[in-house]
Amino acid sequence: SDSLSRLRQAIRDVPDFPSPGILFKDITPVLADPDLLRLTIETMAATVTDQKIDKIVGIDARGFIFGAMLAAHLGCGFVPARKKGKLPWRTRGVDYALEYGTASLEMHEDAILPGENILLADDLLATGGTAAAALQLITTAEANLIGSVFFIELAFLNGREKISSYGPAHAIITF
Ligand code: 5GP
Repeated sequence: SDSLSRLRQAIRDVPDFPSPGILFKDITPVLADPDLLRLTIETMAATVTDQKIDKIVGIDARGFIFGAMLAAHLGCGFVPARKKGKLPWRTRGVDYALEYGTASLEMHEDAILPGENILLADDLLATGGTAAAALQLITTAEANLIGSVFFIELAFLNGREKISSYGPAHAIITF
């Protein structure tokens, strides 16, 4: 539609960020525009209307923005999956491989109860390594994984393959 193409055009390409050769998709112009912001959250919410969701897990840091707004819109709870050492209470964590080295994501061990219906949210699906780690963490909590929703998918990186065993994945804008 017209408004979805406005949304796509508002995403800013930033060359060589955070390192040389990376073309970064900057979502802050979308956040700054009230109409585009509302459209984004409504469109993300529309991917899951037929399911009851108890909590949305959002990934550090831009997944907090999209995930928490989506949770308020849907009327469910929000849980942050944070980088190692940031959460104050007892955590469970998962290590995952980056292009160079490793990273960890953590959730509070009481953030998700067994059997709760959980949706993962993040701003962008690239290689899928980050989302796969978060989805593994949710699975460890014995939750009922509904799937995942992203604002942007970089389809040429095939991240979708890495998370295909964790339920349906939706993206609003694909490059
Ligand atoms: P992946 O693990 O799928 O390779 O990378 C996805 C994670 O890195 C997401 O948490 C996302 O926020 C961040 N990310 C990677 N590339 C970009 C980008 O071009 N733009 C934005 N906004 N985030 C990115």
